[in-house]
Amino acid sequence: MQEKVILIRYGEIYLKGKNRGMFERVLQNNILQALREISCKFERISGRYLIYDYKQKDETKIINTVKKIPGLYSLSPAICVSTNELNIKQSVIELMQDKIGTFKVFTNRADKSFKYNSMDYSRLAGEYILDSNANLSVDLHNPDTALNIDIRENGKTYIFTETVMCCGGMPVSSGGNGLLLLSGGIDSPVAGFMMAKRGVKLSALHFESFPYTSRQAKEKTLSLAKIISEYNGGMTVYSCNIAKIQDAIHEHCDPDYMITLVRRFMLRIAERLAKEKNLACLISGESLAQVASQTMESITTISSAISGELPFFRPLIGFDKSETIEISRKIGTYDISIKPFDDCCTVFLPKSPVTRPKKERVLREENRIDVNALVDEAYKNIEVINL
Ligand code: ATP
Ligand code: MG
Repeated sequence: MQEKVILIRYGEIYLKGKNRGMFERVLQNNILQALREISCKFERISGRYLIYDYKQKDETKIINTVKKIPGLYSLSPAICVSTNELNIKQSVIELMQDKIGTFKVFTNRADKSFKYNSMDYSRLAGEYILDSNANLSVDLHNPDTALNIDIRENGKTYIFTETVMCCGGMPVSSGGNGLLLLSGGIDSPVAGFMMAKRGVKLSALHFESFPYTSRQAKEKTLSLAKIISEYNGGMTVYSCNIAKIQDAIHEHCDPDYMITLVRRFMLRIAERLAKEKNLACLISGESLAQVASQTMESITTISSAISGELPFFRPLIGFDKSETIEISRKIGTYDISIKPFDDCCTVFLPKSPVTRPKKERVLREENRIDVNALVDEAYKNIEVINL
């Protein structure tokens, strides 16, 4: 009897030593959590995971879910049979019956009680295939189809032709948690993905400026958050309205300092939220020299608004925009990010923003407004959305 299964391989956890069990437990938990609404069974077999007993109609959904789970390297939909020559032969022929072009067989014999070694069995299976399908020929160097026969120690053989790459990295939550400053742009969703991929469980903080910015602008950010949440095992999004802060700056401060001052407010609110929610780091999508607020001097002056007790990760700091765009396309955020809705940073945008803001000057500007009261009020009205 044969059964359809999905074989899953994990990645960098392999490099772990004594604490590997901890990483595996977190990963296993994340997989079960991601699949909780799909009827299927899950099992661990020597260095791999197996999903089985699922409805065929759910296969694509399972694959699309699993490939987004950080910590997993690749997966293959496979046919599983009890290991014996006849079962394997029949399944090999069946799996290859519709194929055309060239092929190569790779056998991996982990079960040393199987009569043939890997090389001999690959050759034998190749003969069965050639005898049964006249549309196929062998190409050992650049085959159209690579047929894999994985003969495991558990008495089962897995046969497959397709391998789908997963997202790699480390299991989410194995590396702590953090607060992502999420805008509606291209960069910050990618920054979030990069940190989730390294095992950080994300929450997100978005600043909006309704009524200066539209409801669609917020919806756009929530759509981005939804995509990131699929890599993150769900996500809590905090939405903070800073329109009154922008009004105050607009009314009382030098317009060229608008962006610097708004950014300092954003960090104050982010740091307070992270501390209150026990989130261990801040994350942004900044990239050095991308815009006026991301010069070395701007980053220094903006960051000096907060205590700096929490590490501030900027995973894109050395990326060119094109490199970030490439990842955003891959993770599925690009098409949403480029939708033309105003972000709060475009409200009261100065004609010539300062690119080298000095801290002393910024403090003088802030003396004209009640920083603490403005932070308190914005903070008090933060909205929480669980994705
Ligand atoms: P992105 O950088 O995501 O493409 P952007 O280019 O509009 O958006 P920048 O001006 O480059 O934003 O801002 C740098 C970083 O500051 C963003 O990557 C993000 O982490 C944070 N940030 C900017 N605007 C917001 C916002 N409205 N809400 C939350 N964080 C923001
Ligand atoms: Mg940016």
